[in-house]
Amino acid sequence: MHSARVLEPMNDSSQRKLIIAIDGPAGAGKSTIASRLARKLGYVNLESGAMYRALALKAIEWDASFDDEDTLLKMAQNSQITLERSIGGNRVLLNGKDISARIRERDVTEGASRVSVHPKIREWMVARQREMGVGGGVVMEGRDIGTKVFPDADLKIFLDADPVIREQRRLDQQKVKGASAQAMAAELRERDQRDRTRTASPLAAAEDAVVLDSTTMSEEEVLNRIAELVDRRLAARS
Ligand code: C5P
Repeated sequence: MHSARVLEPMNDSSQRKLIIAIDGPAGAGKSTIASRLARKLGYVNLESGAMYRALALKAIEWDASFDDEDTLLKMAQNSQITLERSIGGNRVLLNGKDISARIRERDVTEGASRVSVHPKIREWMVARQREMGVGGGVVMEGRDIGTKVFPDADLKIFLDADPVIREQRRLDQQKVKGASAQAMAAELRERDQRDRTRTASPLAAAEDAVVLDSTTMSEEEVLNRIAELVDRRLAARS
């Protein structure tokens, strides 16, 4: 996948836009940071999780089991999942239909976590994600971008935060309180655990990732820190 980049003319390398990978657990702030960073740099923000969510939605619509890897793979192969940029944020299309809001709902969130454990599904997703990002100029966020999708990414960030803070941020985001907040927090913990313990590409920081703990950092501080790292990468090449 990197052959296209390696074959670029030598004198063009300083012009080439970067591939930036942002990985980490849910609630660490990846999406906001990735989208703001992409806007700042004039890059495309690709949310890899949205693709797993789109497949989970299709499974729900077709009444397929989240555990049936082969059926899920066929569904993926027969789907067109498009991540599209729009002024109001990223839009996600499944066979041309806008599913951006629907895929944030609870059943799809749970389904995405479950369909993403299957190695064949991951392989298919990774191939599509490489196609989308190979030209550079992308901030791609997910769980395995720095370890699997773009192991040669120009900059890898692993954005983490204390689990209690991550849960709280998610609940605030979704304005959930009381008993349903407790249930949501428990679900988040379960998904986290599934991501970290699955055999295929478990969630982990790449060896060469810069680990940022956002527990006590503001969004602005995280963004500035990453922007500094981007500047350094760009300066090192010119
Ligand atoms: O990031 P987001 O919460 O939208 O991702 C949905 C689910 O997809 C996650 O819970 C995770 O299990 C899975 N995922 C993944 N690898 C990625 C992105 C997301 O396994 N690169």
